[in-house]
Amino acid sequence: MAGARVVPREARQILTRTGGYLTRFTHTLQPYVGCQFSCVYCYVREMAVQKTNPYGLPFSAWISPKRNAVELLARAAKRPSFAHTRIFCSSSTDPYTPLERTERLTRGCLEVMVEHPPEALVLQTRSPLIERDAELIARLPRAAVSFTVTTDDEAVRRAFEPDSPRFARRIQVLAALRAKGLRVQAAISPLLPCDPERLAVALAPHVDRVVVDDLFAGDGAGGRRSGPALERLRALGYEAWAEPDLAERSLDRFRAVLGPDRVAHSQAGFNDLSWLT
Ligand code: SF4
Repeated sequence: MAGARVVPREARQILTRTGGYLTRFTHTLQPYVGCQFSCVYCYVREMAVQKTNPYGLPFSAWISPKRNAVELLARAAKRPSFAHTRIFCSSSTDPYTPLERTERLTRGCLEVMVEHPPEALVLQTRSPLIERDAELIARLPRAAVSFTVTTDDEAVRRAFEPDSPRFARRIQVLAALRAKGLRVQAAISPLLPCDPERLAVALAPHVDRVVVDDLFAGDGAGGRRSGPALERLRALGYEAWAEPDLAERSLDRFRAVLGPDRVAHSQAGFNDLSWLT
């Protein structure tokens, strides 16, 4: 959200042990608390980090950079055990939230990891800003980008993720990352109203694989954190897109274009790290 209040903080730690959804990762890394992209379906809206935020501001109206993120990671990375970490960056913010352009915390963390590589790193984002760091990411032995693309329909995008890049821009970013030699996954998460075959055709030349998720399987709470998005889908006449098994039912449509080996599903798909090597 443009004009979000910036509230810097000093964090006590930068790596958080995983639990729940991310079973194959050992840690998450969140350089920021909060996120400026303001997606209607964001499950972080329903988490304590937003519900108990001390600023009294709506989600995405504040953003809190962990100013000591790089220093904390540099300290953690010196431990021998760091080489065995499998890191997901990030699960409750976007590491390329617009403030990253000036704060450069994610970039600083990548610089640390180039010197001390983890076992695996997946960067989860929807931001073209990640292109800035492509060369750094390419220097990591086992790293990949998971890039969110939820729909190819601009009206739907505006209704659910108005502060996110347009679909055409995201395709450009995917192409640029791939051209720089990076492993790239499109995270169709959550799958929003679109023409799945048309979306698959647009993604096919630019991604190694896609992982498809929906508002029930993907919010980590069986849909309980997806209430506002489900309500908006129904209000806009997209009832069929608010069904619990939407992602699973759509897999064959993506497989018909991309082939069976390039289409993964939900939690199992996000946790399958075999495509990184
Ligand atoms: S980019 Fe991710 S973390 Fe940020 S608002 Fe959207 S869904 Fe939430």
